[in-house]
Amino acid sequence: MSGTFTVINPATAQPIREIGRATVEDVDAVVARAVRAQRTWAGLAPVARADALRRFARVVEDHVEELAQLEVLNSGHPIESARWEASHVAQVLNFSSGAPERLSGLQIPVAGGLDVTFHEPYGVVGIIVPWNFPMTIASWGFAPALAAGNAVVIKPAELTPLTAMRLGDLALEAGLPDGLFTVVTGSGSVVGQRFVSHPDVRKVVFTGSTEVGTDVAAGCARNLKPVTLELGGKSANIVFDDADLELAAASAPGAVFDNAGQDCCARSRILVQRSVYDRFLELLEPAVAEWKVGDPALESTQMGPLISASHRSTVASFLDDADVAFRGSAPEGDGFWFAPTVVLAQPSDRLAQEEVFGPVVAVLPFDDEADGIRLANDTAYGLAGSIWTENLGRAVRVSRAVKSGVLSVNSHSSVRYSTPFGGMKASGLGRELGPDAAEHFTETKNVFFATDAS
Ligand code: NAP
Ligand code: MG
Repeated sequence: MSGTFTVINPATAQPIREIGRATVEDVDAVVARAVRAQRTWAGLAPVARADALRRFARVVEDHVEELAQLEVLNSGHPIESARWEASHVAQVLNFSSGAPERLSGLQIPVAGGLDVTFHEPYGVVGIIVPWNFPMTIASWGFAPALAAGNAVVIKPAELTPLTAMRLGDLALEAGLPDGLFTVVTGSGSVVGQRFVSHPDVRKVVFTGSTEVGTDVAAGCARNLKPVTLELGGKSANIVFDDADLELAAASAPGAVFDNAGQDCCARSRILVQRSVYDRFLELLEPAVAEWKVGDPALESTQMGPLISASHRSTVASFLDDADVAFRGSAPEGDGFWFAPTVVLAQPSDRLAQEEVFGPVVAVLPFDDEADGIRLANDTAYGLAGSIWTENLGRAVRVSRAVKSGVLSVNSHSSVRYSTPFGGMKASGLGRELGPDAAEHFTETKNVFFATDAS
């Protein structure tokens, strides 16, 4: 270890704990243990790996409240959200536990023999996790990676390492072999970069900013290492004039202000058809005023603080010269609080193009279906989006035309462990979750067995 960093409670700005910073040598020692553990793990019967993941899921289920309280403390997530996140980790493990016995290959008709494919694990997978959803995003990598027969090394964000570290203890408590699941704390530039450069880390999963993700992908390319990237977003919430406007307006704050807007799927642009634009804003204003920002330990709280003082300054800088329509409320005091804010924007404005990653939403009008689609696609990103219309044909046309990986019609849902998740354009590469999640942590091997004597 080389020194420590201080973990801060974002709701109070008070220090929680000092955590050690791993060095390159520390990472190398962890990877060496992971290489050994992976050989044993991959050699187990598929049902034994499935059972081990089910045990891990049960241990996580038994610790949902503890993990949730830890996330409230470290990340300022409202307790109800944190409970959902901890339960989701158990569900992702349960879902993944079906994979070891279902990673079937093919038998391909060929001349002169038998041809079969195998889904071989990569070996050790490195998972680099951001601070916005520390537990859930880690699990989208580690659960299917383990299911496919890999070992995992996990680097949490320095701002939010506590729940990942606790999951590391729980993995051991559940009986996973020592070295199979290791959490390495430290900086991205040291630990994360060593995952990229280490020859025995055979795949990297990165979630975070497009800037760092691009750099991680370039490093992986130099090592011919596959990489999954889940990056930023500027997702559109498209409201047509034939929508249920009341429902669209009532649900819009949750779609962008959940987790204080620190969500890559945040619907941070509301595109409203011009004929209902004024009416929609009238309905949105009370919904924003009612959005409850405050102590994350309270069950009634819908939104906590931002993650850090420096992130709050970044978010605030987006309001310089912005046309603010109305704002909700936030507590005074020492936490990194920021009131939900609705701005009126033009398509070329920074607020309509760049990810704020805070509770700020830009509202823009559009004229007709073609214009709405054009505006929805008018950013570098393509992660999520919502389409509000009562016209089925329009719902189908628009959902096919919007260049995003995860869309919902008359809903804002993005994440289910059983459906694929990931972005187009600058929002990323590859998909997580869904039926193929474990297969993405394997390489296909083809073997031909000659049957004809020659
Ligand atoms: P970031 O810098 O991309 O950090 C994400 C993770 O990558 C952290 O674990 C970080 O470690 C690590 N990292 C940093 N530099 C690295 C490097 N050179 N090589 C390998 N790993 C590295 O994101 P951020 O600074 O926390 O947030 C900045 C912006 O990114 C946000 O405002 C938001 O726009 C976007 N973001 C998007 C998501 C998402 O879910 N798509 C999540 C988080 C952030 P450290 O502990 O050292 O930071
Ligand atoms: Mg950073």
